[in-house]
Amino acid sequence: MKMLMAANWKMFKTRGEAADCARGIESRLAWLPADREAVLFAPFTALAACAEALGPGARLRLGGQNCYPASEGAFTGEISPGMLLDCACSQVLVGHSERRALLGESDAFIGKKCAFALNSGLDTTLCIGETLKERDGGMLRPVLERQLAEGLSGVQDDIAAERLSIAYEPVWAIGTGRVAGPVEILEAHALIRAFLRKRFTSGGGAMRILYGGSVKAGNAEEIINLDNVDGVLVGGASLQAETFARIALAGVSD
Ligand code: PEP
Repeated sequence: MKMLMAANWKMFKTRGEAADCARGIESRLAWLPADREAVLFAPFTALAACAEALGPGARLRLGGQNCYPASEGAFTGEISPGMLLDCACSQVLVGHSERRALLGESDAFIGKKCAFALNSGLDTTLCIGETLKERDGGMLRPVLERQLAEGLSGVQDDIAAERLSIAYEPVWAIGTGRVAGPVEILEAHALIRAFLRKRFTSGGGAMRILYGGSVKAGNAEEIINLDNVDGVLVGGASLQAETFARIALAGVSD
């Protein structure tokens, strides 16, 4: 399975800024090794501009940061998987901790999105992660297992492994500059791997588990070399083409 190097631009960039940056990333991905892929989760308003800037055959794939679990309807302000596909997206994120915390998204709702997005043809990354209070309270395992169980509740047992990824993003490490240490990452990713192996008939051993939380050019190589780390999800450091490209190419000698 290819390693997945993902950029999450959150609510940053106008169409012009996005197109420039997407082009800048793509031009640096000429050296992306064949065993890695890169995806950009851009704001909805910038997706069409990025698709146009990248053109057909780009290495950098596009994804939405969220979607609603219905094809169409009276859901003001929401975006369907079909609309993302129409904007050249092949991917979507569901359950980002900012949506859980700021917009009150529940595990059950995230589970509906995850199954609906996959059934609609989008490859899907389910984001999970504990708060500092939950970690300090010894709740790492129950929190991650609950988020996985509910977030994946509607997903078919025989889903192709390359279509579903999990992003482990400890909430206390997102946008804080505080990266989880190797011991913390290894523990959480091993727990997630064990869950996936039990949950899915055959694909659980191969599904990608990404780490996210203050990943930078200076720590990416160490992180992707850890067991059960199959890529990274990068927020702040993905906003500059040069920086994200350095992360996507971490450990690749020139
Ligand atoms: C994220 O937005 O998913 C994220 C991990 O952000 P940052 O890299 O800024 O911590």
